[in-house]
Amino acid sequence: MKRLTALLLALLTAASLTGCEKEPESAELSLFAMDTYMTLSAVGEGGGEVLAEISRSINVLEQQFSRTIESSDVSVLNREGRISPDTDMDTLLRLAVQYSEETAGAFDVTIAPLVALWGITSDSPRVPEQGEIDALLPLVGSQHIHRDADVITLDEGCAIDLGGIAKGYASDAAAAIFHQSGLTRGCANLGGNVYVFSDDAVDTCWNVGIQDPQDPSGWVCTLALDDHFVVTSGGYQRNFTAEDGTVYQHIIDPATGAPAESDLLSVSVIAAYSGDAYAGTRADAYSTALYVMGERAAADLWREKNDFDMVLVTTDGRVLYTPGLADCFTEAEDSCYVYQQIAA
Ligand code: AMP
Ligand code: MG
Repeated sequence: MKRLTALLLALLTAASLTGCEKEPESAELSLFAMDTYMTLSAVGEGGGEVLAEISRSINVLEQQFSRTIESSDVSVLNREGRISPDTDMDTLLRLAVQYSEETAGAFDVTIAPLVALWGITSDSPRVPEQGEIDALLPLVGSQHIHRDADVITLDEGCAIDLGGIAKGYASDAAAAIFHQSGLTRGCANLGGNVYVFSDDAVDTCWNVGIQDPQDPSGWVCTLALDDHFVVTSGGYQRNFTAEDGTVYQHIIDPATGAPAESDLLSVSVIAAYSGDAYAGTRADAYSTALYVMGERAAADLWREKNDFDMVLVTTDGRVLYTPGLADCFTEAEDSCYVYQQIAA
């Protein structure tokens, strides 16, 4: 199988899409949306228009899912406690509740009050008192989201945050557009959410690099993939350092209301595109959840579901990967990590 010379790093910055091979009919587009830099790339006639369509679609979704845009569906729901959602919001909330159940609550969009309390991705992060955390913990849980006919309501005081899943939903939208486009190949790097596309007739794949959580310019491995989502979550992506030197990262454990104290530095979930099955959305929710769950529970969930792959980077210096990746997995050269396959 021929490999594209492009190296795609699953980073959070504009530099994440590096070295894309320039071909006569290639196009690239960068945008800032959903609080992150995104880079889109396409090969094939009309690629520029396809990327513009993907970009428009991401912007439309952001208008609905953002917590900071006052008119968004999420803001209205959080402010007024009820909303008649449009199709995307309705679908995404339904999926979010489903993934919360599948991950025993490790992923939970009702974590919003605690995300706001810690403010880790805001301009004013702080370490709250335990009493403040305890007061908000009862507001967390998908049982607080109610659906009645065309109306969604939230219990008093509750709020939702789609930051752990909205980019995955946007990557599903990008994948659908690529598939309808007639293009040869393309990729959408939406922060830590990557989708790579190769037309079935083209015998090529992308090399997707998984960032080294301890070295922003390095990677722990590359994966040769086509038509897959690769979604990475990690505490290294966003965090703040308190006055006493403690680092608090942005993924909250719904069981404690505090930043997850994971034995993982990062989790990457790899899932094949499968029509309208929302594989990108699910990979996004799962990567967040598996980070919270830690190595052992993540491996248990993978064995139970048996329908996705993953790469775990542990705090004690191991890179663990599922056997389904063996044929497409290349270790980084001169790596200081120990590489192990996860037992099925
Ligand atoms: P991700 O980068 O996809 O892992 O998502 C992290 C973001 O999701 C955070 O910045 C929060 O906005 C939100 N979040 C934090 N903790 C959780 C959680 N346990 N479940 C769902 N969303 C979360
Ligand atoms: Mg996520």
